[in-house]
Amino acid sequence: LIDRMHGFGATIFGEMSALATRTGAINLGQGFPDTDGPDAVLQAARNAIGAGRNQYPPGRGIPELRAAISDHQRRFYDLTIDADTQVLVTVGATEAIAAAVLALCEPGDEVITFEPYYDSYAATIALAGAVRRTSALRFPDFAIDEESLRAAFSARTRLVLLNTPHNPTGKVFTEAELRLIAELAREHDAIVVTDEVYEHLAFDDGRHVPMATLPGMFERTLTISSGGKTFATTGWKVGWLSGPAELVTACATVKQFVTYAGGGPFQVGIATGLGLPDDVFASLTRKMQDGRDILTRGLRDAGLTVSDPQGTYFAIADVAPLGATDAVDFCWQLPELCGVVGVPVSVFCDDKDAARTLVRFAFCKRPEVLTEAAGRLARLG
Ligand code: PMP
Ligand code: GLN
Repeated sequence: LIDRMHGFGATIFGEMSALATRTGAINLGQGFPDTDGPDAVLQAARNAIGAGRNQYPPGRGIPELRAAISDHQRRFYDLTIDADTQVLVTVGATEAIAAAVLALCEPGDEVITFEPYYDSYAATIALAGAVRRTSALRFPDFAIDEESLRAAFSARTRLVLLNTPHNPTGKVFTEAELRLIAELAREHDAIVVTDEVYEHLAFDDGRHVPMATLPGMFERTLTISSGGKTFATTGWKVGWLSGPAELVTACATVKQFVTYAGGGPFQVGIATGLGLPDDVFASLTRKMQDGRDILTRGLRDAGLTVSDPQGTYFAIADVAPLGATDAVDFCWQLPELCGVVGVPVSVFCDDKDAARTLVRFAFCKRPEVLTEAAGRLARLG
């Protein structure tokens, strides 16, 4: 293994899901729903297989999905993107992130991201030979620290790798925060790669603001999303990126030699999903918000300090009141202690100490599963 990948062992999600399978514990670790998304989405993929659409799709994605992505951005954000030149379908958001970082960073370029950060960011930045600079979001409110963000920028800054709504914190960046990031990006002539896979999972009437909609930002922003989160089809791995044609073409150049293309019938399913009426999106959001409420209430009843997630699949709890001094050890013991799996937040951080007793729990599960998991944790206290 090349030197720059040392330190990136097995991903925490694979390890924690294997632990859940081994022990039969409730898996609130890896973020995936335990119910299927809209029937129309599933049926469209089945139909596509039946209709013989089983050979390589075009490298940039099937035309109806690219058109659906463009229509979706117009409908929800009033953004106009050209389906032929400004969209690239990828194998999940994960490939979009990798394609963007690999396509845009020379070795030694700096990439700014907020910590805690999604695990693939650090590995992908390292693969590119780029340098990670982070600005911390601190439990429990996870507000931006302007001073540390400003300090993270330099003459070598090439990208800002943003994620809103944010995994693992559940934070939805405010418009004011996004404006600050935009201003700094412009000042340093940096490109913003924005991972918005939870775009439809912003709660309490909170609004997800795409970075690309801010003044002067479309031309320096690559927006990434994925059908997995919105339509509860994480196993399909249909993602995409969109932005200025020149940046999209750079990513397409890399992507074609990594996977060339991803599962055609699944692309048909996600195209159908993106065209569903507004109220379907609203009900998916509401369902996830109900899960958020059940889990956070349950964790608070268990005596824990819990973040107030405004979006995503995830809540963060401080497990110190349960006697834990190190969330990594605690998470490995948790199945045995009470039959639940969570993810230690320190794996998403450079500053491990700041997250020493924090655990991320996923709430993208059925209400009865969340109630049972919270009850089990409560009995620990
Ligand atoms: N970015 C974030 C913030 C995520 O949480 C995830 C998956 N949970 C991904 C990217 C990867 O998405 P995909 O499964 O579409 O590759
Ligand atoms: N994004 C999911 C999570 O945060 C996991 C996806 C994966 O396992 N790669 O739990």
